[in-house]
Amino acid sequence: MTDLAASFNPAAAPSGTGCDECDAVDGWWVHLRRCAACGHIGCCDSSPAKHATAHYHRTGHRVMQSFEPGEDWFWDFEAGEMVEGPELAPPTSHPDTQPAPGPRGRVPLDWRDHIG
Ligand SMILES: [Zn+2]
Ligand SMILES: [Zn+2]
Repeated sequence: MTDLAASFNPAAAPSGTGCDECDAVDGWWVHLRRCAACGHIGCCDSSPAKHATAHYHRTGHRVMQSFEPGEDWFWDFEAGEMVEGPELAPPTSHPDTQPAPGPRGRVPLDWRDHIG
């Protein structure tokens, strides 16, 4: 179990503007989540690959923040509840011009049939 306070690194910049693990396989996502500890950007649990949760299981980094424009809530995977956290290094969301689901051009027309 990781100490909650140690799960936030306000200095860690986000790893990018999309889910790198989806990009590697031409995948797509519904929403993006940012690891509060290291800045890893992964896709949410409604997405086909659920890379944000996979990152938690792989690393033990237990808190993530929404990487969607206008959202700043944190989720603690370990406690299974929302938590408060500090302001993280910008940018705190993907660009407004990037659609959700995204990325542009890779979302199948029947994407609603693929989400959890
Ligand atoms: Zn992904
Ligand atoms: Zn992390």
